[in-house]
Amino acid sequence: MAQVEEKRGVATRTLRNYIGGRWVEAQGAEALDVTNPATGDVLAQVPLSGAAQVDEAVHAAREAFPGWRATPPLERARACFELKYRLEEARDELALLVSRDNGKAIKDATGEVRRGIECVEVATGIPSLMQGANLEDVSRGIDSDMIRQPIGVFAGITPFNFPFMVPMWFLPFAIACGNTFVLKPSEQDPLAIERTFELLDDIGLPAGVVNLVQGGKDSVNALLEHPEVDGVSFVGSTPVAHHIYETSAKHGKRVQALGGAKNHVVVMPDAELDSAVDGVLSSAFHAAGQRCLANSVCIAVGDAYGPLRDALVEKGAAMVVGEGPDPETEVGPVISAASQERILGWIEKGVEDGGELLLDGRGRGSEDGNFIGPTIIEAEPGSEIAREEIFGPVLTLLKARDLGHALEILNASTKGNAASIFTTSGGAMRRFRYEAQAGMLGVNIGVAAPMSFFPFTGWKDSFFGDLHAHGRDAIDFYTEKKVVITRWPKT
Ligand code: NAD
Repeated sequence: MAQVEEKRGVATRTLRNYIGGRWVEAQGAEALDVTNPATGDVLAQVPLSGAAQVDEAVHAAREAFPGWRATPPLERARACFELKYRLEEARDELALLVSRDNGKAIKDATGEVRRGIECVEVATGIPSLMQGANLEDVSRGIDSDMIRQPIGVFAGITPFNFPFMVPMWFLPFAIACGNTFVLKPSEQDPLAIERTFELLDDIGLPAGVVNLVQGGKDSVNALLEHPEVDGVSFVGSTPVAHHIYETSAKHGKRVQALGGAKNHVVVMPDAELDSAVDGVLSSAFHAAGQRCLANSVCIAVGDAYGPLRDALVEKGAAMVVGEGPDPETEVGPVISAASQERILGWIEKGVEDGGELLLDGRGRGSEDGNFIGPTIIEAEPGSEIAREEIFGPVLTLLKARDLGHALEILNASTKGNAASIFTTSGGAMRRFRYEAQAGMLGVNIGVAAPMSFFPFTGWKDSFFGDLHAHGRDAIDFYTEKKVVITRWPKT
């Protein structure tokens, strides 16, 4: 840690908040360094906004709501089209910002920006997506209509691991539906979203429709308790997701809180080995394992075990560890020195608890950054390393007797974000689809990421709420339904 402190240069600038259509300083707020996780260089300082800044932002959003609500959906869709064009123009720049600030390989960062823009594309369909339903003659001479109305001010609170994409899961859908929005991004890598707000500023939305408050947990808690915030969209770790869910509900808000994960991939003896190995490795190690859809537990079924273990170790060792912006890099650094220490602690613990270190990624990558190379530990089902979220490039390998045993292991998890199976058997696939207790499943796919026109359907402790992020769930989440029953005098 001391070493990291020494390397740090002088901070370049302090980020500002974007409130009511203007960039404003967070007066009096303490600031944190934002560092490049590959080098330790200070990129900027981020203010830790408090209740006063949050109040200003919520107030601006509240003021903007009536006018934005009355803006025809087609005009709101045009704003989304305009945003899409600006994001497309800036996509390489945004990917580089994500890669430098978060550390992920430029290939992963480019994919992240693409997936984020797709959310904006889906939100352009709001004139169709937001339509209600009606029926004539629900009773004699009486008609009934269901309309959807925007609700008011929504807050988005997002994690470090997808600093551009996750805010895009929420912001475009919320504003396309006619709400106004306050975003509190991760304080660890806020640069790509700062740039995104510059683009939002350029498209000429009315002041206060979108607002950005930089900060940490104090700004979050001020949002959760603010009486003028109507709903909260959150993504982050399970304990914080639980806190967000409870506190928002206590304050009478609508809430969707996406939490942490511990995803399993099952490899059957009949799987195509090469495709399974590539799928497992890219899922476990790309983005340095810091993805909520990463399969961090691999269950080898029966005879799949020997060849799979050998190939995972051989190909995992060959993965290129380096700085994110280098096009050769497959595995970048983890987000912070604190994360690196925590993950190294998990590797030690896994071995102490009887695990076998098949591939040791410690010591790979430059000493200047928070690097850990692909690491594979064989362990027992039920051991702590096989149960807890590590959120780093550490894959736990387990053996199962048969598919039933693999499902038993998978379903014992308290988390249920995603799971995958590699098989050439339709019967095995069907049983997996039927019995696996996770919300997003991959069949011969390592990362089961729903496109933005489908919902992002975590289960168990990976999700608290009823309506998921993006897809049609987003329209339900960001609107209130109203039913009108009408009778007119006969003419
Ligand atoms: P985190 O929970 O530490 O932080 C998420 C957000 O909550 C940040 O904006 C942070 O400022 C805020 N926050 C942190 N601690 C808080 C507290 N005590 N009170 C109030 N607010 C607080 O998560 P992270 O480390 O940024 O992100 C990684 C986690 O996010 C992992 O657990 C990962 O699985 C999860 N994640 C889940 C999904 C999903 O779709 N389920 C997607 C991406 C990431």
